[in-house]
Amino acid sequence: MSVRTRFAPSPTGFLHIGGARTALFNQLFARRHGGQYLLRIEDTDRTRSTQEAVEQILESLAWLGLSPDEPPVFQSQRAARHAEVAHQLLAAGRAYRAYETPEELAAMRERALAEKRPPRYDGFWRDREPGPEQAGKPFAIRIKAPLEGETVVEDLVQGTVRVKNSELDDMIILRSDGTPTYLHAVVVDDHDMAITHVIRGDDHLTNTFRQCMVYDAMGWRRPHFAHIPLIHGADGAKLSKRHGAVSVLEFREQGFLPEAVCNYLLRLGWGHGDEEIIPRARAERLFDIADVGRAAARMDYAKLTHFNGVYLRQADPEALLPEVMRRLARGRLDFGTEKAARVRALLPALQERAKTLAELAESAAFAVLDGAPAPDAKAAALLTPEARARLADLAEFLSALPDWNRADLEHWLRDYAEVKGVKLKEVAQPLRVALTGSTTSPPIDVTLEALGRGEALARILAAAEAPAA
Ligand code: GLU
Repeated sequence: MSVRTRFAPSPTGFLHIGGARTALFNQLFARRHGGQYLLRIEDTDRTRSTQEAVEQILESLAWLGLSPDEPPVFQSQRAARHAEVAHQLLAAGRAYRAYETPEELAAMRERALAEKRPPRYDGFWRDREPGPEQAGKPFAIRIKAPLEGETVVEDLVQGTVRVKNSELDDMIILRSDGTPTYLHAVVVDDHDMAITHVIRGDDHLTNTFRQCMVYDAMGWRRPHFAHIPLIHGADGAKLSKRHGAVSVLEFREQGFLPEAVCNYLLRLGWGHGDEEIIPRARAERLFDIADVGRAAARMDYAKLTHFNGVYLRQADPEALLPEVMRRLARGRLDFGTEKAARVRALLPALQERAKTLAELAESAAFAVLDGAPAPDAKAAALLTPEARARLADLAEFLSALPDWNRADLEHWLRDYAEVKGVKLKEVAQPLRVALTGSTTSPPIDVTLEALGRGEALARILAAAEAPAA
């Protein structure tokens, strides 16, 4: 049977980084086994689900390269099928009608709590036929939980987990208003979608036993289960906003690359020797859910940033350019092709140092200005009268050069320093300040070439002539 996995988010909010990891593991597992990875939007809770959340989830998954292999299934659209299965169980004697009102159920719960018993349904209607007084009254459909023995699940991550069946109660599968309960809907959907492996957060482990009741009562083969640990913050607490970014789109906005995020999430609780950088194609060959650790994964933002730096350095500058330009423009204006060309020429050098796209864009900001950038404090301090005189002299020298390309510029600047009897640094630093407004930048020949002769000379002259600070 072909492996089929699914990611099943509830669209009650943005896609959390932990959900992204679950989706990734589902996709990798399916790919590893030549199967399919599906998406089911669990929007049965109509009051808490929103269209906006659905769109955000789809967008987040698309950004991470985790779009499903088939169109998404919306759980809310399958309510008739959920009801159909509940009625089948009823007809087969594996479920029954229960007529308690909400008040009666609340009283039952109170009594159990007062007697220090777990608040379970007492099975009153389990073996009773409704009488004439129940005619036309609303009823819920409850599944008959097994009374003896235990339910055992061989979880691919957690190992053997078991529960005594006496601890399970006859849960409602179809409410008196005809709507399915969540645990029932999940089983029907997973069965109909032919899911072979349910890989999800370990907060769902206890649900599994109750879901098994539906599989078993229908005579359906249970899927394999793998409950993966949730992601915690560095302090061991459940990951939340106060630890840093948690929503996938927030990571995108902060300038992380999807490949780096996925690689980082993969390494969180799964490993292959001590390999750190594992591109997706390789992960698809190596990943096995059985190798996922049982301990809670701890989010390490510094490590993610390090991964991002590695991926950023390896990235094709052409692929980064549109995003860098978008960040520089900040939606306000569209830079012309000349400015894009400047950034393009600088990117390979800037990529060496930036850890995020946000940093990369910031380091390229000087290139898209019209005219000289205002120097930062450290840079301004370097613009001494001697440095200005040097810049005026350099402007003359540079304007007379026959060519304007990186290799020649480097060569000419060395010559210039030698002839003038100064260190190259004494030439390069004032130039750097004049061109970029900062004391750090890509190599000076690269910077000069990227700006082009006209722009570079204008900036050098402006710095040479600026009134002393
Ligand atoms: N909808 C559930 C959630 O968002 C997932 C249920 C499942 O994977 O079975 O936590």
